[in-house]
Amino acid sequence: MAEKDLLALFVETLKDIYYAEKQIYKALPKMAKAAESTALRKAFEKHHDETEGQIERLEQIFELLHKPARGKKCDAIEGILDEGKEIMEEYEGTPPLDAGLVSAAQAVEHYEIARYGTLKTWASQLSMAEAVRLIDETLDEEKKTDEALTKLAVSAVNAEAA
Ligand code: FE
Ligand code: FE
Ligand code: FE
Repeated sequence: MAEKDLLALFVETLKDIYYAEKQIYKALPKMAKAAESTALRKAFEKHHDETEGQIERLEQIFELLHKPARGKKCDAIEGILDEGKEIMEEYEGTPPLDAGLVSAAQAVEHYEIARYGTLKTWASQLSMAEAVRLIDETLDEEKKTDEALTKLAVSAVNAEAA
């Protein structure tokens, strides 16, 4: 059996989040289209653009490692995005739709924050300063998106109550 080290685990997790980001990139326009409020739609569109850059950062990290950028199916993100799809279908045209979309998007962001937080720690332990920097840029965008969604959650629920 081949020896597995922290670098191997780092690369596997990189593949996991690379796959996840690509799925998220495909899902965000659908969520933007489904959103009732302009503010929520714009937040999804903005994050769609950011996600493109995040995918590129991951490709840069693969390059630093001299590895091909390759994803590995992430069942967690598939499940989280499926839940989001379910909300879109079941709450289409109803008042709490936006609140549901925000909740689905926050589950996505939290998965990403968990992954990138871990990857940053490992990259630092592996003395990969450039990877740490790239991961940190993305981590910051994910956290800011989560914060923006928290604010939108309040307005979505208020709009629904009005
Ligand atoms: Fe992302
Ligand atoms: Fe995963
Ligand atoms: Fe994100």
